[in-house]
Amino acid sequence: MDDYLEGLDRALKKMPAGKGTHERFVIPAPKVFYEGKATVLDNFAGIADTLNRDPDHLMKYLLQELGTAGKIEGHRGVFQGKFTDDALARQIEAYFEEYVLCSECRLPDTHLIKNDRVLTLTCDACGAHRPVRKRKAKTIIAKDVIEEGQIYEFRVESVGSKGDGIAKVDKYLIFIPSTTKGDMVKAKIKKISGTLAFAEIVERLGKV
Ligand SMILES: [Zn+2]
Repeated sequence: MDDYLEGLDRALKKMPAGKGTHERFVIPAPKVFYEGKATVLDNFAGIADTLNRDPDHLMKYLLQELGTAGKIEGHRGVFQGKFTDDALARQIEAYFEEYVLCSECRLPDTHLIKNDRVLTLTCDACGAHRPVRKRKAKTIIAKDVIEEGQIYEFRVESVGSKGDGIAKVDKYLIFIPSTTKGDMVKAKIKKISGTLAFAEIVERLGKV
């Protein structure tokens, strides 16, 4: 009998605590308002927290999917351009399906592991794992929005005569030293001169 109880105790401890089942797991509805031409997702941090994912990762996803620029400001997410709460809710739901929900047992008790550049979703509840979908990287910059001192994501499209990688965004050519064609990078804009911009690499994101 003691063994049985101990076994039961162990089994219960293995059960995911709190937000254990999908039925009880509720993604907070986006609280959206507008500031000028920007969309503010007021409960961004709360949503990332509920999903138990890195806010930067969620933000990067949303920017890519919405095809805009933006940033995290404290607990808020700020997006250039106007997006409805429905549009944001759909993207967050898609993120949840792709990066949080176990496709085997449909529980959200999972974590992401990066192995040899492959991001894998591993389920804490059933042990299943799957690679997350490789998405086509999109340039995240809306028109005329690059600013000096800001960091953006770029895809290097060509190499200039002096060997610097060149990304194109709208009317701008952005020169990024130490990159080659196909590189995806995060780079900081050092200087904008007319339609030319000069950036410095902050992080390498891979190749496309
Ligand atoms: Zn599972």
